[in-house]
This record gives sequence, C-alpha cells and structure tokens, in this order.
Amino acid sequence: MAQYYYTGNLQQASNSSDFDVEFKTSSFVEYSGIYRCKTCGYEIALNAHEGKVPPHQSNSHCNNNIFKLLVKTNN
Ligand SMILES: [Zn+2]
Repeated sequence: MAQYYYTGNLQQASNSSDFDVEFKTSSFVEYSGIYRCKTCGYEIALNAHEGKVPPHQSNSHCNNNIFKLLVKTNN
C-alpha cells in the first residue's frame, strides 16, 4: 500500500471520476501518478507522456491486472 508522511503534500480530490477509470496492460494513461492493480494491489508509477501500463512482474500470480489511478500527480 502506498504511504505518505507529510499530509500537506497531498490533497483530497474533489471527485472520483479520474480514479474510477480502469486501465489494462498496454493501454495509455491520461495522468501521471501511481496506479494500483484492483486484484492484487501491485502499485506502479507511470508518466502520462510515456504511460503505457506494463504487465505485472514475471513472478506475479495475478491474472486480472486492471489498474486504477491511486495518486494523481500535479502536472
Ligand atoms: Zn494484480
């Protein structure tokens, strides 16, 4: 699970619409940030300008890797 310490560096989003979109492997993301697999919780960081969702690590047993935005960066 992602962690943070300084609460002043994060802000609650005003709505969930950007965080409800689901992304499969090889799809492009709209926002840079941290993405989390719905099934196993695996977290990855992606940049929007190069942001194709990668497959899980090779030793993963997750067979339903659909990612959702966890933390959207300010870009
Ligand atoms: Zn997974």
